[in-house]
Amino acid sequence: MNIPQTIIDELISQARRDAPEETCGYLLGVSTDEGDSVTENYWMENIDHSSEHFSFAPKDQFAALKYARSKGLKILANWHSHPASPSRPSQEDLRLANDPTIRYAILSLHEGIHLNSFKILGGEIVDKEVHL
Ligand SMILES: [Zn+2]
Repeated sequence: MNIPQTIIDELISQARRDAPEETCGYLLGVSTDEGDSVTENYWMENIDHSSEHFSFAPKDQFAALKYARSKGLKILANWHSHPASPSRPSQEDLRLANDPTIRYAILSLHEGIHLNSFKILGGEIVDKEVHL
C-alpha cells in the first residue's frame, strides 16, 4: 500500500494533536493493478478518549463510508496512533481486527516516529509493510 509523504505528514500532525490520547481514522484511496494507493486521511473521533485503546464514533464511520462512496474511493486501511508504545498491534488490536479485506496501520510516536501496516487474519498478523 502506497502512502504519499503528504498524507504521512497529516497522520503525524493528527497523532501529535490528539496525544496523549490515541487518534484514529480511515485511509481512503484506490486499488489498481499496481497496488493500493492512499489518497486521503479521514479523521474519526476516538470515543474512548484513551491513551491505550480506541473506538471509532459510529456516526463518523457511517459518514466516512458515505463520503468514500461519493468520491469513488475505497477504505484501504483503518489506522490509529500509539502515543507511547511501538508500531505493532496490541492484543486488543488483534482481537478487534475483524476485516481481512483492509490493512491496519499504526503510527507510533514512541522512540521516533514509525508507521507500519498489517493484514490481520483470525487475530494473527499475516503481512507487515513498513511505511516510515
Ligand atoms: Zn493499538
